[in-house]
Amino acid sequence: MDIPGVIYMAAPIKKFLDVFRVPPGTEIDLRNDYNPGFVGHFIAKEDAEEATAEGIQLLAQQQDRLYARNTYGLLIIFQGLDAAGKDSTIKHVMAGVNPQGVQVTSFKVPGAEELDHDYLWRTCMALPRRGNIGIFNRSYYEEVLVVRVHPEYLERQGLPPKLKDQNIWTRRFQEINNFEQYLVDNGIIVLKFFLNISKEEQKKRFLERMEEPDKNWKFAAADIRERDHWDDYRHAFDAMLSTTSTPYAPWYIIPADHKWFTRLAVVSVINETLDGLHLTYPEVTQQQKEALVAAKAEMEQDDGDTAGTVQKVRKKRGKKS
Ligand code: AMP
Ligand code: MG
Repeated sequence: MDIPGVIYMAAPIKKFLDVFRVPPGTEIDLRNDYNPGFVGHFIAKEDAEEATAEGIQLLAQQQDRLYARNTYGLLIIFQGLDAAGKDSTIKHVMAGVNPQGVQVTSFKVPGAEELDHDYLWRTCMALPRRGNIGIFNRSYYEEVLVVRVHPEYLERQGLPPKLKDQNIWTRRFQEINNFEQYLVDNGIIVLKFFLNISKEEQKKRFLERMEEPDKNWKFAAADIRERDHWDDYRHAFDAMLSTTSTPYAPWYIIPADHKWFTRLAVVSVINETLDGLHLTYPEVTQQQKEALVAAKAEMEQDDGDTAGTVQKVRKKRGKKS
């Protein structure tokens, strides 16, 4: 549906998005089937940057209508290993949107109070309200990723021992699917991005963090040790992507070795999703239109005497001053 005055996404980019979406029920094999360095070869880097800038503008327009409609909320989840570009993608893609309509929440190692609750609890508190975009920088998916790779995290959770069996991952996948179905059934759209970085590119970005003074703050020694678990993480991601990409809450595997391509892909998927909601500004009723005309006429006669005008308006509405 074309809306006058709105910028539309370039057709080749639109067509391309299906490539990233994980079809529900497919067995994902990141190592053999997904190339983190993929850049599509349908758009040059400079053109991609321009298309991304246009995409960011379009997103700002879509968000304005999402906010005005106040019917749907949009939850966007980012998962990916350290240095995959989660923070910078969020920063760039959301640069144009009205801050009032967006909340970003970063999920870290759970603290004592969080561990005292079920694992979805802390994320529930951060869900977007209708009209808003909620961004999760990491999410409840950590519960089938880092917790699976490091069983000591599961040990710290106060679960009854008999529930800490091997079936816990299958159960969690099911619980997450049910939870996301519930969100979608309540008008909260769920969109999930896995930023797929290669081990070589991660090394390069870690070295930059160590060598460039302005990036030193991002460096964490623990991140380097996580590289020893690369294959375990990949298996955990394979299982997550194979099991939790659903028709109502799909995963998108985004090649993440080239940031310019990652940004274009992410902004395009978000726009495509919002476009599918056919968001328009709320219709104004005949009564509201008449009230607008009357109010405008009154404003035009306004002599600048605010106190007098307020009295006049009150009198007209039959209110006591
Ligand atoms: P960062 O994103 O670099 O700020 O790091 C956050 C850290 O918190 C990462 O190492 C995550 O794996 C970790 N984390 C996030 N959620 C959980 C969780 N539910 N259980 C254990 N660790 C988590
Ligand atoms: Mg980190």
